[in-house]
Amino acid sequence: MASEQEAAAERAALILKRYASANSRLRAQFWACILPAVAISFLTGPALAADIPSICHGRPAAGRIEHAVQLPLRGPNFEAYSQLGIQLGRTYVHSTVRDIVLQTYAEMQKSRPQVELVYGETGLKEGGPMLPHRTHQAGTSLDFLVPVKDRNGQPALLPRSPNNRFGYGLEFDMNGKFGPLRIDFETIAEHLYQLDQVARRNGVRIGLVIFDPVLTKQLMRTARGPQIRGLPYMKGEAWIRHDEHYHVDFAIPCAP
Ligand SMILES: [Zn+2]
Repeated sequence: MASEQEAAAERAALILKRYASANSRLRAQFWACILPAVAISFLTGPALAADIPSICHGRPAAGRIEHAVQLPLRGPNFEAYSQLGIQLGRTYVHSTVRDIVLQTYAEMQKSRPQVELVYGETGLKEGGPMLPHRTHQAGTSLDFLVPVKDRNGQPALLPRSPNNRFGYGLEFDMNGKFGPLRIDFETIAEHLYQLDQVARRNGVRIGLVIFDPVLTKQLMRTARGPQIRGLPYMKGEAWIRHDEHYHVDFAIPCAP
C-alpha cells in the first residue's frame, strides 16, 4: 500500500514539476487550489473498503459528509475526467449518489451503447470546500463533462490534459461547437432523463441542474426534451459558464 501511495505521489510530483513553470493565471489558480489536496490525499490514504451508508450534513454550498464513497475510475461506458483527480481525492460522493450514477450508466449502456461518458469533479472524502467549486460540499453534487461528436457525427471524447484543466478549461461557442467537436445534446438529454428516472427509483429527486442557459435551449429540442423540461435548471447565469460540463445536485435530505 505504501509503495502504491509513493508511486502515486511520485507521479503527481512529476506532473506538478512539469507544470510548475506555467504562468497562465488560470493554471496557477487551478494548481493553487489542488496543491493542498495533494498533501491531504497522501496523508489520508485510500478509502475504507466497508460500505457504510453515507451521512451528509448541511447543504451543497456549506456542508460536509461522513462515510463518502469514491466513484470508480472507469466502467464499461464511463471514466473519470482525470486519474490525478482521483488520486487527489476529488471524486467522493454520497453512497446513494454513487448508486444512482452507476445505475444510470447501466441504463445509458442500453440506450446509447456507442457513447463513452466522462464524469468530472464531485467532492472530497469528508466534504467541505473544494476550490474552485462553490458547492460540491455535501457529497450530493457532481459535474459531467459534455459528450461530444466529431466532424463526422461520430461519438468522440473531449481532449483532457493538465493544459486544459482536464476538460474544464475548454470553451464551447453558443452553438455548442469547439473546433471540430460539437456537444452531443441528444446524449446529455438522455443522460439527464435517466438520472432523473433512476434517482426517483432510489427515492431521490434531482435538486438542481446547471448548464449554460443558451445551450440548455438546444437540450429542449432533443427527443427527450419534453421529458426533461421540468427539471430544476438554475435560472440565470452561474458564477462560471457551464458549457463544457453540466452540474447536477441530488436533493438528498442531509442532517444539520
Ligand atoms: Zn459543479
